[in-house]
Amino acid sequence: MIEVTLLGTGSPIPDARRAGPSTLVRAGGQTFLVDCGRGVLQRLTAAGVGANQLSALLLTHFHSDHIAELGDVLITRWVSTFTPDPPPLPIIGPPGTRELVDAMLKAFAFDISYRIAHHDDLTAPPPVTVLEYTEGEVWNSDGVTIRVAPTDHRPVTPTIGFRVEHDGASVVLAGDTVPCASLDELARGAGALVHTVIRKDLVEQMPMQRIRDICGYHSSVEQAAQTATRAGVGILILTHYVPAIAPGQEDEWRALAAAHFERQIELGDDLHTVDVHPGVSRPAD
Ligand SMILES: [Zn+2]
Ligand SMILES: [Zn+2]
Repeated sequence: MIEVTLLGTGSPIPDARRAGPSTLVRAGGQTFLVDCGRGVLQRLTAAGVGANQLSALLLTHFHSDHIAELGDVLITRWVSTFTPDPPPLPIIGPPGTRELVDAMLKAFAFDISYRIAHHDDLTAPPPVTVLEYTEGEVWNSDGVTIRVAPTDHRPVTPTIGFRVEHDGASVVLAGDTVPCASLDELARGAGALVHTVIRKDLVEQMPMQRIRDICGYHSSVEQAAQTATRAGVGILILTHYVPAIAPGQEDEWRALAAAHFERQIELGDDLHTVDVHPGVSRPAD
């Protein structure tokens, strides 16, 4: 079984009830944080996970809403790990991840120097291992494998999606993307597909062109549902709601997806959790 928790279901638009994009995947005793948007550590705490318990951090791309609290994750993991010689945190993302992580550690260089000067048992900056990939297997440890493939969020590039597998169960995390063949392939026959979505029918009516621009590189609810159907996944998990789902609107969003995907659809508030068991997919169309 793989457990998926939507830590943050929001978007770049600040929302009092929704943290920024971030998803927790727990499989085989391992804990993966996928993206780290606004408020991620508060939601992670609510899910019962400390920054010092992460097996790896997975990044789909570098839009600010998906990496807003990378620095907090790095620093908090560092200062809350009390074992001697803590292992480096694996950070897996597309090319550019190393530059991003280095820049983040540089931004926190004052903090890092204060803490090393103050605490005898902190002698080095936060240990990290950065791995940059656009496709292929990126993780194989104690029965959990993770594979990545390119997605299409142009002009943002490169961007990747992740497929986590454990003991016959599988979960794909699409990140921000328009429908594309490489995502279809990554998601083929998966137990669940976690997909970011926007309501293009609503966003297209907004007066500001800068807001309407986002329709060009995101999937609508309907498109995410079509991707799920093409790939033959068992459960479609929607997140990253633009605009935020207002209380009472859940059924309207669900109906838009259900018109194109006839199996289980999950959406909701932050901390909504979905159990993904083996054998819930069906043959792809
Ligand atoms: Zn994005
Ligand atoms: Zn986004």
